[in-house]
Amino acid sequence: MVENIEKSQKIEKIKNGTVIDHIKAGKALIVLKILGVDGSNGELITMGINVKSSKAGKKDIIKFENVFLNEHDVNKIALISPSSTINIIKDTQVVEKFTVEPPARVDFVKCPNQNCISNQGEPVNPTFDVISKTPLKVQCAYCDRILYGDEVMAFTF
Ligand SMILES: [Zn+2]
Repeated sequence: MVENIEKSQKIEKIKNGTVIDHIKAGKALIVLKILGVDGSNGELITMGINVKSSKAGKKDIIKFENVFLNEHDVNKIALISPSSTINIIKDTQVVEKFTVEPPARVDFVKCPNQNCISNQGEPVNPTFDVISKTPLKVQCAYCDRILYGDEVMAFTF
């Protein structure tokens, strides 16, 4: 069974869609989770976890058929794995390739501080400043609460 999966992984090329390459080893499932993609819409997803890489030793890779990411998605990936590259595939050709860049500010992390103004039902959108990319460290723009690494992922929506 494992052999078949590995074989199809190598053979499967997508015609149109997105390849996220050089994901930090072991982070692919978190990437899928925060992108909200689980295959239930019938889209083809092939994935390699801890794949051998000449650059970084090991990496993860995800290929999505007919899935194209928006800026919001790309920013989320940049926080989880700043080394990731995004390849946009059209008619089996790479038409665009870029390395993700963590933004200075993110609006998709909910503040865990219940007393924070962003949790008081006020018309205030959660906002965190990215104060360190590696290791990841973000700070609430309202109450100064700091979140680190995987903690950030737990509050990402
Ligand atoms: Zn806060």
